[in-house]
Amino acid sequence: MERVIILGSGPAGLTAALYTARAGLTPLVISGNQLGGQVSITSEVENYPGFPQGTTGPELVELMQKQAERFGARLLIDEVIEVDLRQGSPFRIRTHGEDLRGETLVVATGASPRRLGVPGESELIGRGVSFCATCDGFFFRGKQVVVVGGGDSAAEEGLFLTRFADSVRVVHRRDELRAGEALKRRAFANEKMTFIWDTVVEQVLGNGKVEGVRLRNLKTNEVSELPTDGVFIYVGHFPNTELFKGQLAMDDHGYLTTDRRMMTNVEGVFAAGEVQDPIYRQVASSVGQGCAAGIMTERWLAERM
Ligand code: NAP
Repeated sequence: MERVIILGSGPAGLTAALYTARAGLTPLVISGNQLGGQVSITSEVENYPGFPQGTTGPELVELMQKQAERFGARLLIDEVIEVDLRQGSPFRIRTHGEDLRGETLVVATGASPRRLGVPGESELIGRGVSFCATCDGFFFRGKQVVVVGGGDSAAEEGLFLTRFADSVRVVHRRDELRAGEALKRRAFANEKMTFIWDTVVEQVLGNGKVEGVRLRNLKTNEVSELPTDGVFIYVGHFPNTELFKGQLAMDDHGYLTTDRRMMTNVEGVFAAGEVQDPIYRQVASSVGQGCAAGIMTERWLAERM
């Protein structure tokens, strides 16, 4: 029987682990399929306090993991495949390799990149279609790439890609970026980056590897083909809550709903980070929510003693 099981190893999960570990609860953190969560595939992190020169996503989560482990948190590299919260605490968690019981849970399963859902996209993942510039940017040295999206991720990861690619074309469905001012300024100033406005990708073209994209201008309806070697897709995220459907309360978009103590509708099940936060979705806010969930988990257990 575990006192605390934390589902997810991103900034929210690792911070909940740090706080519950320091409270002597030796939490078990189940990594999920992306050790370190989304930030571990983020190239640069410039807005996490304490790093005046910025840092990288992988470096930041590695430090968070080491810090939590120093106080007794344990990391299980595995994926949760089933949860049973129906009987209340203790809760049952099944992973590929383990059948676990936890007195409390912190759900920090984060969010995953959304797909465009157009022909060619799924078929060409890993063959030129990517959701991770940090992982794949290197393979596009001297090549042409397309970035889809107009948010912070599209701008930031597009800028990162200019280190490798000869040209980065950002295809956005409106005529202005959603990204913050600082990123926007850098993106517009970068000579390798150009913008194709009011346009969507209708198809990823290629036989065995990406060769181009079919575009549609939403204002003129004009369809065109743009040759490219890579397509990096940054059109937002969806919360990883499939496992909890019918067991935990969620909003219309599938984000878990929590009270001010970060507790879900099930006593003893807390949630933190992007899985319950459709608004801020920053490393700093996830860390804050993980801290709150960790503190409240410890209090909830103490009150039951
Ligand atoms: P986002 O802010 O939700 O932006 C998604 C972008 O994709 C939007 O520009 C949206 O267009 C576009 N889009 C959505 N669905 C589309 C579709 N089907 N076809 C074409 N375009 C589509 O997502 P994000 O950029 O991944 O950022 C997620 C969160 O993380 C945000 O809160 C962001 O601030 C944060 N973040 C922050 C930083 C940073 O501060 N440095 C870096 C990365 C992420 P519209 O604009 O028309 O809606």
